[in-house]
Amino acid sequence: MKTVLITGTNRGIGLEFVRQYAHDGWLVHACTRNPSTSDELNRLASQNPDAIKIHALDANNHSQIEQLSQTLSTEAIDILINNAGVYPVTRDTSFHQIDYEAWAYAFRINTMAPLKMADAFYPQIAKSELKKIVTITSKMGSVSDNRGGGSYVYRSSKSAVNIVMKSLAIDLESKGIIVGLLHPGWVRTDMGGPNALISTEKSVSGMRHVIDELTHTDSGRFFAYDGQTIPW
Ligand code: NDP
Repeated sequence: MKTVLITGTNRGIGLEFVRQYAHDGWLVHACTRNPSTSDELNRLASQNPDAIKIHALDANNHSQIEQLSQTLSTEAIDILINNAGVYPVTRDTSFHQIDYEAWAYAFRINTMAPLKMADAFYPQIAKSELKKIVTITSKMGSVSDNRGGGSYVYRSSKSAVNIVMKSLAIDLESKGIIVGLLHPGWVRTDMGGPNALISTEKSVSGMRHVIDELTHTDSGRFFAYDGQTIPW
């Protein structure tokens, strides 16, 4: 049985990752900030209790991340999916209106937490069969794709996680660990909004296919959910 650990699974893209992997027979460690209020995730887990294990995890809480790694110390984790993310909407979009505290927080969740997760769960990933670390980033972090300006906070936190994961790919190459960066598309979630172009089902099934196909030569590269390469 293959094992995946996913952050931010109570809604949106993370919840759909849980649904699809559990449906296909994987053991899913589903992390959420507040298990007691994660109603849809609890409903999925109650239908499939052997496949879905729910864990409390705030991506901003490094001691909680370390504690969960201790709890799962005997596990092998084939794929770590860093999905949890924030898009601070208040006062983020325009020059002169930056909320610098929100910026620092976005860096903690979007940029630092994925590396902390990789650091904490490295032993479980290293002893697995597939050995993959996947971070859900965004095309908005692409420097060459930025034609719209604005969104200083979100864009910079995603550009930063891209370079962080590129370094990680190089550092873990000798350990046989593959590091993937994925843009999920513009997806109908709380973050993507109702006018987004694709469903969570389409985004996640596409990303799962890309994850399946990731090889060592793809490590440290940036792909969209449909397999297209995204320019840095
Ligand atoms: P949602 O806003 O719908 O969901 C975000 C998820 O992240 C929630 O489960 C949320 O949990 C969790 N989260 C936020 N902060 C924390 C934290 N501190 N600790 C743990 N979990 C946290 O977003 P999406 O599902 O759309 O986005 C998932 C990923 O995809 C993100 O990384 C996002 O940046 C990226 N993305 C999304 C796009 C889109 O169009 N939707 C486009 C490009 C990238 P809680 O409910 O507790 O807040």
